[in-house]
Amino acid sequence: PHTPYPIPLSGSVQKGFGRGGKDLGCPTANLPDESIERLVELCKPGVYYGYAQVPGAPGQDGKVYPMAMSLGWNPFYKNERLTAEIHIMHKYENDFYGKELKAIVLGYIRPELDYTSREALIADIDTDKQVAIRSLERPGYKVFEDDAHFTQ
Ligand code: ADP
Ligand code: MG
Repeated sequence: PHTPYPIPLSGSVQKGFGRGGKDLGCPTANLPDESIERLVELCKPGVYYGYAQVPGAPGQDGKVYPMAMSLGWNPFYKNERLTAEIHIMHKYENDFYGKELKAIVLGYIRPELDYTSREALIADIDTDKQVAIRSLERPGYKVFEDDAHFTQ
């Protein structure tokens, strides 16, 4: 089968469990289930990279930033359902629950892994962010920053 990327996503940001995104220094915005049906069909659990935008974030200009996305099993649904959570590589001054989040998924970083320590998890999140940023530096990806998905 051919590569499924780019995969566009959009939906209003949902409240998660607050399970440590912010304490790990890595808040992740949750997408609604109905917005990730195609993603779930095409992709296995794991960490992905791409671009994201929150046009209505308070005080923002709708800029497009690199992102890392985790597609993982959600304990709330007894691990029967996948959830997509996106960390945008930008320091927002405020939360943006309820605002529209747009993203384009461009590639796969790694499978979902189990961690024995908080330190190991934090170290790996940092690696994911670096991999995402370095991957997106490739000139071929530049066009997706200006994709119609983000300008419409
Ligand atoms: P939750 O469990 O509700 O997802 P998190 O600790 O993961 O809680 O925080 C996620 C929330 O933080 C997002 O829904 C968004 O409103 C806010 N937020 C602020 N900055 C960012 C960012 N750079 N990337 C993603 N979410 C962010
Ligand atoms: Mg989160």
